[in-house]
Amino acid sequence: MNERITTLVATALMVSGSFCALALDNPDSKYLSWPTYEGSDLELVVDSKGTHFTLWSPEAQAARIMLYDTDLNTPAVDTLDMSRSDHGTWRASVPAQLYGKFYTFSIKHGGKWLDETPGIWARAVGTNGRRAAIIDFAKTDPEGWASDKGPKVDNITDVVLYEMHHRDFSVDPSSGIVHKGKFLALTEPCTTNTYGDKTGIDHLKELGVTHVHILPSYDYNSVDEANLPANQYNWGYDPYNYNAPEGSYSTDPADPSVRVKEMKEMVKALHDAGIGVVMDVVYNHTANNDDSNFSLTAPGYFYRHRPDGSYSDASGCGNETASERRQMGDFIVNSVKYWADEYHIDGFRFDLMAIHDTETMNRVAAELKKINPSIFVYGEGWTAGDSPLPVERRALKENVSKMKGVAVFSDDIRDAVKGHYSSAEDRGFATGKPGLEETVKIGIVASTAHPQVDYSKGNNSKFAYAESPEMIINYVSCHDDLTLTDKLAKSMPGSTEADRRRAARLAQTIVFTSQGTPFMFAGEEVFRDKKGVHNSYKSPDSINAINWDLKHKNADQFDYYRELIALRKAHPAFRMTTAADIARNIVFDDVKEPNLISYSIKNNANGDEWKEIKLVFNGSDEPREVKIPKGDWTVIARDGSIKADGLGTTRGGRITVEPVSAFILARTK
Ligand code: CA
Repeated sequence: MNERITTLVATALMVSGSFCALALDNPDSKYLSWPTYEGSDLELVVDSKGTHFTLWSPEAQAARIMLYDTDLNTPAVDTLDMSRSDHGTWRASVPAQLYGKFYTFSIKHGGKWLDETPGIWARAVGTNGRRAAIIDFAKTDPEGWASDKGPKVDNITDVVLYEMHHRDFSVDPSSGIVHKGKFLALTEPCTTNTYGDKTGIDHLKELGVTHVHILPSYDYNSVDEANLPANQYNWGYDPYNYNAPEGSYSTDPADPSVRVKEMKEMVKALHDAGIGVVMDVVYNHTANNDDSNFSLTAPGYFYRHRPDGSYSDASGCGNETASERRQMGDFIVNSVKYWADEYHIDGFRFDLMAIHDTETMNRVAAELKKINPSIFVYGEGWTAGDSPLPVERRALKENVSKMKGVAVFSDDIRDAVKGHYSSAEDRGFATGKPGLEETVKIGIVASTAHPQVDYSKGNNSKFAYAESPEMIINYVSCHDDLTLTDKLAKSMPGSTEADRRRAARLAQTIVFTSQGTPFMFAGEEVFRDKKGVHNSYKSPDSINAINWDLKHKNADQFDYYRELIALRKAHPAFRMTTAADIARNIVFDDVKEPNLISYSIKNNANGDEWKEIKLVFNGSDEPREVKIPKGDWTVIARDGSIKADGLGTTRGGRITVEPVSAFILARTK
């Protein structure tokens, strides 16, 4: 989210090289002396001896627990005083298993009792997450959960990411799905649109993506769970309870077990279909400031501040968290571990990741790999504003090589292929704007060092920041900014829809054949739009929902995407894992015309059966002639068509590449 100013910040950073570092008189230095607690029993544990509460709040003058029979609007049935304990904690126990009860904490601070909070480790919550719940998690597991597993991932470059919002994906009547806008939507097989084309999970299988990336699905603040018939929409970048699922995606937000169970059922159904689940996580800021669960638990500690004591705001949302502080860094690490353990989540996408420090991100990746080596991590390698965290410590895309097992989005390829995100009318390589060829090449080699790529001519980054293609996520659109469909409509005035669909095919062909990991926004395979709304974070379903009848209307577009994904999955040459392999196997041809790139992937790259793959991208509106060496070539893509196992054959020689299209050939000898 909020990358509106972020790329500019990152760019300015590289150009000027001067950003204010941590101020010496920063009021946050006091937190360094606070005791931290490493136990795994924070806030709530239920065992054979009873129910145990442990709250970390070093500066509290007193702490207490309120127990409730219901999730909202009823008085406390009991209040428990907590006793000061080790490492900044407070404790209380009840010699009974309080399953079915709800609880909140309150601390005394500055002589007064603060508002109640469900704490920061509420794993189950009632309506709107206001009260934490005590539930038996064993009873939330779907049948077969013990043996449930996501797809094995040897290298992240083998992954094909599909970014979706629960409501976008299923809420339109054309989805044919019963549980519209819910976790359970992804558990429904055999759903179709009006014309009988597959929708839902069957559609995902047909398309061939390996992982869905679900927009924030932890409990967020904005949608009123007590009024679901209002059909409110939000992307969910306003975190409230980080360790419980969002209630509006469940069928009953008032029943804390239901949201847990239904989210697990979603994961299980996707896993059974061979599809992994990536969760979008937003630890960089919270929806509220002084009223957040962090602030009501340990005031001040979890956030960064300016020298005047006000909240610093690298998120552009009013505050930023302080991952470099031990208890906050541990919170992030333990929270993702919890989602991986309890919900079998296969990957994590970090929002505004550069607000976090590289050390914490390294811990995140390393700890997740211990749980499951197939888990991967990527994020937005930028911030939305300046931060007290020194630039060299930020998990910026330019610092990605300081991290192990963490990838970043390539805004280089994104803006070069389709035009800059900040200007709707701006065109890119695929829509005829000259001068972006070198930046597209930077994308093709996944921002790794390559002897034929001149980074000084790059539009965004000026150096090869990735040591490995496993550090790069390639894309041309996501939930942020205009969809590709809308971007093409705004930047190609006077064009026909057929022209724009052709440009989308070229753009995605560049993404899906580039080194690194491809990522696509849900519905682009049916040419969905958002009616030109670029920041649709709270727009109604009428803007955000995917109309699945487009799959019928744009069937050839869907077929193209499906074949493109099949091509990538069938050929390891597109999925190299080292910079050295890319430098050795990718050879660019010396072409001079604007909006033309021609290159080969040679040497049976990465164990591919194809000895050489020739790719020519023509982003101009004129045909271009290229010279292909004589040989027994199979034509894979030409003139807006593609077939993973071939459209025909050619002997090479002078060949015309049609306007706005990709030309792909392969030979085995
Ligand atoms: Ca919520």
